[in-house]
Amino acid sequence: MTFAAQILTLYPEMFPGPLGHSIAGRALAEGRWSLDAIQIRDFATDKHRSVDDTPAGGGAGMVLRADVLASAVDHALERSPNAPVIAMTPRGAPLTQARVRQLADGPGVTILCGRFEGFDERLFDARPIEEISIGDYVLSGGETGALVLLDACVRLLPDVMGASSSGDEESFENGLLEYPHYTRPQIWEGRAIPEVLRSGDHAKIRAWRDSQAAEITRLRRPDLWERHGGTPDLSPSGARRKR
Ligand code: SAH
Repeated sequence: MTFAAQILTLYPEMFPGPLGHSIAGRALAEGRWSLDAIQIRDFATDKHRSVDDTPAGGGAGMVLRADVLASAVDHALERSPNAPVIAMTPRGAPLTQARVRQLADGPGVTILCGRFEGFDERLFDARPIEEISIGDYVLSGGETGALVLLDACVRLLPDVMGASSSGDEESFENGLLEYPHYTRPQIWEGRAIPEVLRSGDHAKIRAWRDSQAAEITRLRRPDLWERHGGTPDLSPSGARRKR
């Protein structure tokens, strides 16, 4: 089954953009996922094809109209009834690897990209829409957020990444940040690769990596470390632990 992505946007020409290259681009060309960028303006009903209007109550900027966006969402739902509809907004739930994994396991995703001041709030009462944020900062539009979300999903699709297991040990997959990597040259600018990694002792290497991951997470991301609760086999993202 192909993972079907629909993007509702005022800038369909922004897609596939970076997702037309490298891993995601190859997977797209191979038909492992599909991408449909749909112009929101096509659902406008007045002769100026307007999609936005001034904010009720006054204030700066423009607000995307609920009626126009609902028509666009309905169109997307007709074509892909089982794909969750996600609106990109800084007010949404922060995107996590766990949610990415769930989405990648599903039929696809419909992503609504905001612009200007964002959406008329009534849209979220009237349609089944999940609000997602890609972080605590403000973008000029939801398109780059959609690219981030799709990139994260597509790399998890079956047969997309070269080594099928390479996703399992990465940052966030077991609730921790990843251990550090090294490659040749053996000594670079006087710095050697940690001795344990050259030992060939896989149990020892495993233990070293686990302790590095724990230490780095504890120091850099106390929030993750606390949630992790010091239980190395816990896997909030749903990834398999190969131990
Ligand atoms: N006035 C809004 C920001 C609008 S930014 C506020 O203060 O909350 C314009 C659009 O960019 C948003 O509608 C949203 O689609 C997108 N956007 C901005 N920041 C984002 C973020 N952190 N995550 C996801 N989408 C974001």
